[in-house]
Amino acid sequence: MSTQLTLDPVLQLISNHHIAEVWQNKATGQNSLHATISFRPGEVISDFSAGTIVNHPTYLTVQVDTDKHITLQPEFLQYANHSCHPNAFFDTTLMQFICLRPIQEGEEITFFYPSTEWSMVQPFYCYCGYEKCLQDIRGAAHIHPETIKQYRLTDFIRKQLGKRKP
Ligand SMILES: [Zn+2]
Repeated sequence: MSTQLTLDPVLQLISNHHIAEVWQNKATGQNSLHATISFRPGEVISDFSAGTIVNHPTYLTVQVDTDKHITLQPEFLQYANHSCHPNAFFDTTLMQFICLRPIQEGEEITFFYPSTEWSMVQPFYCYCGYEKCLQDIRGAAHIHPETIKQYRLTDFIRKQLGKRKP
């Protein structure tokens, strides 16, 4: 039985991974991850593990400790894009990719990069469209404490924020 999605014609299917599919925007070349089933808040979208462990971040890694960054296994999870209003979260303690807000079939699955990244090597300007979009995404270290505490954060990021208090 096929669970293949039908999405905007500007998107083309790259790969199917049962619970989600990777699509590519033909105009921009950007990949995105879309759910093929619905998820409820708190549900585990996927377990994950470290494909490789490196001491320097790249645009594909997720930070799990001060000098510890992992590539994601299963690899398709790396196509989850950033949003300032994310619907998913990488819990790097439980090693579970968790649903934060209801996700419908076909919806893009996103996470908040600074929820895992302390200081990013490739900062970028966000165009997610959320009314409270933070725009300048550089990692948790660069976000106002009152703003970042509104987000679900990994134990590592929470620990880092705790150290910052006077
Ligand atoms: Zn944004």
